[in-house]
Amino acid sequence: MDRIVIKVGSNVLTKDDGTIDVNRISSIVDQIIKLRKKGYEVILVSSGAVAAGRSSLKSSAKLDSIEQRQLFSAIGQIRLVSLYSQYFGDYGVKVGQVLTMKENFSTRKAYLNQRNCIDVMLRCNVVPVVNENDTVSLTELMFTDNDELSGLVASMMDAKTLLILSNIDGIWNGQPGAPGTSVIRSVEPDEDLTKYIQSGKSGFGRGGMTSKYTTARKVADEGIRVIIANGKKDNIITSIFSGKDTVCTVFKPKEEAVSSMKKWIAHSAGFAKGVIVINQNAAKALKSGKAVSLLLVGVTRIEGSFEEGDIVSIVDDNGKEIAVGRTSMDSVTATGSTGEHDQKPIVHYDYLYLNQ
Ligand code: GLU
Repeated sequence: MDRIVIKVGSNVLTKDDGTIDVNRISSIVDQIIKLRKKGYEVILVSSGAVAAGRSSLKSSAKLDSIEQRQLFSAIGQIRLVSLYSQYFGDYGVKVGQVLTMKENFSTRKAYLNQRNCIDVMLRCNVVPVVNENDTVSLTELMFTDNDELSGLVASMMDAKTLLILSNIDGIWNGQPGAPGTSVIRSVEPDEDLTKYIQSGKSGFGRGGMTSKYTTARKVADEGIRVIIANGKKDNIITSIFSGKDTVCTVFKPKEEAVSSMKKWIAHSAGFAKGVIVINQNAAKALKSGKAVSLLLVGVTRIEGSFEEGDIVSIVDDNGKEIAVGRTSMDSVTATGSTGEHDQKPIVHYDYLYLNQ
């Protein structure tokens, strides 16, 4: 059975005046029901809580941006999930709400616990509806946006495809809609589209094309197909999954399978507790494409304080991060043995994810 993660952005779920577009939500549910009938297993990552709350509360109180996010998401998440629950319920399908935070991805234990939670819902035929717990997440520890969250969920749940629905047709090879430009339909593994990515964002969501591209590139590199498409277009989801020629950007997945452990490590760079600085020989060995572990003999310096099993960032002598890994020793032991031969690897190959 093909497992897919569908991320729906705030701009898809809101009308021009910022209020929630219930018809759009209903249509997205109808399409997901059709996919399920065809045998797809669907996980929904839905934004729109803040937008739903903002448009339903007329408050004259002066609120700073954090207070606004907390208040609006607290109100709006209830509305959002009730709508999904009602529309899926019309088909006799149950939804389950998963509210998460970045910290829930920071340790392997929390990560597996969360994976188990979504897994049990899928096994019981429930549609997980995932969103960030905006009410209590700390600003400095938030996901960049739900694009990043959807990438983590796709990776964590070993999805076959991640579909990111936004209010534009995909990545354009120039100014969107300008004469002579078009949507890039297919992106090869390793293809770099940075020059086409416009910074900035439009509308009600936190993300923009930069975060969509960053997520798409990373997740496709892990072997998951990523599609960026326009969720405001009628029947876009069913059109894509029935193989019809649909305008959207498809990132072809990398062929080699990445283990589940490495996928977690790949997304954990933000939780690194320390830095391992390595010499040129070690950097060359890691980048050789062979299954090489990081040995202490190639380490020149340890920064920060970490325990065995923590995530560490591995940088070359210019300070450029080349990999992220899970260390097999604490920082004190590592510092004491830096540069030594005949020690166990500080990061074993199975726990090492090389930046692409
Ligand atoms: N979690 C936010 C919400 O539901 C949206 C974050 C984003 O725009 O990506 O309103």
